[in-house]
Amino acid sequence: MHCNLINGEWRGGQPAIVNRNPSDLDDVVGDYASASAADMRDAVAAARATFPAWSRSTPQQRADILDAAGNEILARKIELGTLLAREEGKTLPEAIGEVARAGQIFKFFAGEALRQQGELLDSVRPGVEVLISREPVGVVGLITPWNFPIAIPAWKSAPALAFGNCVVMKPAELVPGSAWALADILQRAGLPAGVFNLVMGSGRVLGPALLDAGIDALSFTGSQATGERLAADCAARGIKVQLEMGGKNPLLIADDAQLEQAVECAINGAFYSTGQRCTASSRIIVCHGIHDAFVARLAERTAALRVGHALDSASQIGPVASEAQLAGNLSYVDKGLADGASLLCGGERLTLATRGYYQSPALFAGCTPQMAISREEIFGPVAAVLRADDYEHALALANDTPFGLAAGICTQSLALATHFRRHAEAGMVMVNLPTAGVDYHVPFGGRKGSSHGPREQGRYAAEFYTTVKTSYLGL
Ligand code: ADP
Repeated sequence: MHCNLINGEWRGGQPAIVNRNPSDLDDVVGDYASASAADMRDAVAAARATFPAWSRSTPQQRADILDAAGNEILARKIELGTLLAREEGKTLPEAIGEVARAGQIFKFFAGEALRQQGELLDSVRPGVEVLISREPVGVVGLITPWNFPIAIPAWKSAPALAFGNCVVMKPAELVPGSAWALADILQRAGLPAGVFNLVMGSGRVLGPALLDAGIDALSFTGSQATGERLAADCAARGIKVQLEMGGKNPLLIADDAQLEQAVECAINGAFYSTGQRCTASSRIIVCHGIHDAFVARLAERTAALRVGHALDSASQIGPVASEAQLAGNLSYVDKGLADGASLLCGGERLTLATRGYYQSPALFAGCTPQMAISREEIFGPVAAVLRADDYEHALALANDTPFGLAAGICTQSLALATHFRRHAEAGMVMVNLPTAGVDYHVPFGGRKGSSHGPREQGRYAAEFYTTVKTSYLGL
């Protein structure tokens, strides 16, 4: 049994969360303790008790611990990547890449701990100076989703710790293994008891318990429905909140796009990681002149994608993460057909050598902007192609969404790329690249219904994980 980490001690809890491999349901990754609301209260109390000391630790102490954690994650990337691929289902190369990313994030924030700066200004009054400094927010709750089992826990906990906050992390029920490994690494890297707490189990039970226990800030990544409810609950309690939620990201293919490059962007953005990325390209908006050639080539490439066990080196796409997610994807395929879209390939449950949640990637053409498959986040390997009369029409379609996380364009024209960059209503814009796949040293986040609060990652993470103090000094 893998236990929760509360106040520096490993504590069990029933019933066990049985972590199963979505590539092979007969493969049990491990048993993980589920926590109670009382465990959550203890974790928050431990974080609160240790905060005064941890917030006064030196930047060198924090940098050394984060750097050690980053080094261990990088050194164990194949082992941890295998664990991640087994519990989440992304292919092994993608999983190893995600683990390496987590290690790099810890090393980046080890440096950020040392690079904290303030500002000193002359007051508008004579004989007074003004000092602007940053301080940690306090006890930070982190609620993370299943699609990036170690990268998202890393990109929330590394800045939280770097800036002197104490953490209570609640990972997704489907993927406790990577979060547990991260907690174990952080603990052994030298964090004092109570600075980082891991509380595994049901979001419905532990989410309210986390807020009721009296945290200062909450960073959440997950579904829009849960995020909006949490934001309202945080507002009522005066808790600072940051939300990363869904996306329905457009990839615009202009008439002058380089065909093979554009198809590659669409294949990668729509289907890699089984389409389970909030930055996935789920709306492919294709201008009239290139539409038929592009769609024919995209359908050919989609049909040829190899779906299989995440640890099989021949697999390009692993299984869907859960039975519920697979059922949801297939219901969207039915909705697309009922709404009159043309299913060019895929959209079926597959039976392979091992019992898993396999689905062939689904490509729809002839989609209209009103269809559910064009509007709602599916979070699976289902992509909708919309035909546009011209670039202006395509841009209008791209922005016609309640979400605003990422937006991409494939074009050889600098003028179009620049126009799109300036007019896309999204937090991130990609030119001749898939909408998914981001760097860790620059801000991540979106607009409209995709995000709420300050950006994550890079230097911008300080906006959420610190609070500004303005001091007036009489001379
Ligand atoms: P997903 O569809 O990605 O599972 P969720 O929003 O359901 O999206 O889950 C994301 C995270 O939020 C998970 O860790 C989950 O346990 C947690 N969660 C789910 N429901 C709640 C809730 N009512 N309050 C707080 N956290 C929740």
